Amino acid sequence: MTRRLTGFQPTGHLHLGNLIGAMRPLVGAQERPGTTHSIAMIADLHALTVEHDPTRLRANTLQVAAVLLAAGVDPRRTALIAQSQVPEHTELHYLLECATGYGEAARMIQFKEKSSAGGPVRLSLLTYPVLMGSDILVHDSDQVPVGDDQSQHLELARAIATRFNARYGDTFTVPEGIRPENAARIMDLADPARKMSKSTPSAAGRIGLLDPPETIRRVIARAVTDTAGVVRADPAGQPGVTNLLAILRACSDREPGELSSYGALKREVTDAVEALLAPIRARYAELAADPGHVGRILTEGAARVRPRAAATVRRTRAAIGLLD
Ligand code: AMP
Repeated sequence: MTRRLTGFQPTGHLHLGNLIGAMRPLVGAQERPGTTHSIAMIADLHALTVEHDPTRLRANTLQVAAVLLAAGVDPRRTALIAQSQVPEHTELHYLLECATGYGEAARMIQFKEKSSAGGPVRLSLLTYPVLMGSDILVHDSDQVPVGDDQSQHLELARAIATRFNARYGDTFTVPEGIRPENAARIMDLADPARKMSKSTPSAAGRIGLLDPPETIRRVIARAVTDTAGVVRADPAGQPGVTNLLAILRACSDREPGELSSYGALKREVTDAVEALLAPIRARYAELAADPGHVGRILTEGAARVRPRAAATVRRTRAAIGLLD
């Protein structure tokens, strides 16, 4: 049984890239019982590393949970948790900090970028990659789906685990970073050189999973193409058209047929995206009407994963020299 941890930040709205790159592989893994056990973790503690609004954070955490459920995450097969409701994450975090060098944390690219952007820098921004290591290691994860932006943090988790095992005895599973099967990377529709992302200030190139159909139609209609006038996949020469084709393939689960114009391509993409998102929006609306239900699913998820997490913490405490 392979154990897999997938994280989602409760900041901003989830988008089509999250659905295709992370949520659908998670749902796909559920269809292979006995091979992969997944935990879907909403990283609410990571959201505290930058300026945040408490009311909005709580709402976003529940919203991300509801969107994951609406997209097909089945809490009986995938443990759906809020990071902060599993206190073993933070307990192990401190122990791992004691096995991490200051220089190792300070050289993380994300820390350097975010801390040099101006304004106050929270200490947790420096240490959060170690917390991410704790999230991964505490659940004995074998695999972690990571995008390029998180691969340095995964390498840190691997380095900490390997060093800890060598110094204090075999304690942690050393995790592997993976690109999930069929997880296309979706680019920004207004700027196909960059990945579709929650943190891009402009929403002009982003398809939010809860966006109304008119907004989606408009974003796709305005998607950047080129002057070649031929519908074909050519990542270097025609990145915008290639991205639209990738979205069409991912949303309709079939190879796109012959398309004569960019207008025809955009119409197909709009229909395919709408067909994929309409049922998710409808299920989301039902779930959002009952936040208590979503909250209970998170509480149950935490209860399910805590015994294993607690065992990892006990093992770590014993290895590092703490009393029972
Ligand atoms: P985030 O909440 O931004 O950390 O992303 C959550 C998950 O979605 C991660 O597994 C990312 O790799 C994945 N993801 C984010 N943006 C994209 C994208 N544009 N295309 C494909 N996958 C993405």
